[in-house]
Amino acid sequence: MAVPLFDTATPLEPIRGQIREAIERVVDGGRFILGPEVSAFEEEFASACGAEHAVGVANGTDALEIALRGLGVGPGDDVVVPSFTFFASAEAIPPTGARPVFCDVDPDTGCVTAETVRAALTPKTKAVIAVDLFGNPAPIPMIAELGLPVLEDAAQAAGATLDGRPAGSLGSAATFSFFPSKNLGAFGDGGAIVSDDQAVAERARTLRFHGSRDKRSFEEIGRNSRLDELQAAILRVELPLVGSWAEGRRAAADYYLEAGLADLVKPIETVTGAQPAWHLFVVCHERADEIAAGLVDLGIEARGYYRTPVHRQPAMSEWTQGVDLPATDELARTNLALPISPVLTQSQAGEVVAALRAVIDGLA
Ligand SMILES: *Cc1c(COP(=O)(O)O)cnc(C)c1O
Repeated sequence: MAVPLFDTATPLEPIRGQIREAIERVVDGGRFILGPEVSAFEEEFASACGAEHAVGVANGTDALEIALRGLGVGPGDDVVVPSFTFFASAEAIPPTGARPVFCDVDPDTGCVTAETVRAALTPKTKAVIAVDLFGNPAPIPMIAELGLPVLEDAAQAAGATLDGRPAGSLGSAATFSFFPSKNLGAFGDGGAIVSDDQAVAERARTLRFHGSRDKRSFEEIGRNSRLDELQAAILRVELPLVGSWAEGRRAAADYYLEAGLADLVKPIETVTGAQPAWHLFVVCHERADEIAAGLVDLGIEARGYYRTPVHRQPAMSEWTQGVDLPATDELARTNLALPISPVLTQSQAGEVVAALRAVIDGLA
C-alpha cells in the first residue's frame, strides 16, 4: 500500500463539522480582519504555548521578521541563524536591516547548540534565531545563557515540549507558521508571534498594522500582515487537538524504531529533555537520494530536505563569504524524510521499514 509523506486530511475528519460551523460563524458575522476570532485565538494560543501574549500575522516568515524587529533588531545588527533550516528562517533577517550570520548545527539532532551559536557570535550580534528543526526543540535555555535574546523559530514544533515547557515558550519570543502542512495547519497561510514580553507583543501588534497603534497615527514603517478571521476560526477548532496529534507523531516514530529502523539508517536524535512534535521524521544515510528513489518506486513517499542549505543559496551570497559549516553540509547531503503523521499506523511503519530494508539490500 502507498504511504504518503504527510496525511493532513485524516486527522481533520473528526472535526470537519466543527470547522464548517466555525467558517459559517465568520461568514454570518461579517468581520474578516482583526475581529473576535483572531482575538480569541491569540488568547487560546498564548495559553497553549504557556506564554503571556500571541499576535496573529499573515504567515511564519512575516512572524520572524516582525518578531526580530520587536526584539529591537535593526540596521547594523547581526543575527545568528542556522543554515540547515527552511530558507525563511534567514530570509526574515535582511528586511530588518540586519545581517544574517550563519552557524552550524549538532550533527545528531540537526539543531543549533550553545557551542555552534557561540562560534558565530560577533561584537554586533543582537539576537539568535534557534530553529526547533523537524519539531525537535533546540536547547534554547542553554543558548539563552550566552546572554542574547533568542527567537525560537517554532514553525515546525507545535505540540513539542522541552523539559515540560511547550515549544513557543523557550526563548525571548517565538514564531509559528500555520501553513497547511505544519503541525497546526490553517486552510491557507497564517502565523503568530508568541512572547511573555509585553513590549515585544505590542511592537508586533503595531508592526502588523502599518506601524500604527490607532489606525490614524503611523509611527514607523510597518507591514500589512494579519492572520485573518477565517483562518483563526479554523485554528481555534484544531488547537485543542495539537497535543494529541503530537503524541500520534511520537507514537509513529516509536513504531519505526520498534520495526528496526535504526539498524538500517541513522535517525535524527532528540535534544535531551525534548518531547519532539516530529513535523518531519528524518533519518540519515550516505545514499539518501538513491534510497528515496527506491522507496518512491515502491509507493512510499520519501524526500531529502534542504539539500542546498541556506548559506549556499544564491540570495545569501552577500553574507556567506568564508562560512564553513561541516555538520550542515553533511546533514543536507544525507538526510531523508520518511512518512509521518498523527495517524501513521504500526503496520504502515512496518511496511516502510520493510521497503527500506529491501531498497538498501538492493543498493549496488
Ligand atoms: C514553514 C517555515 C517557516 C515559514 O513559514 P511560512 O508560514 O511558510 O511563511 C519558517 N521557518 C521554518 C523552520 C519553517 O518550517
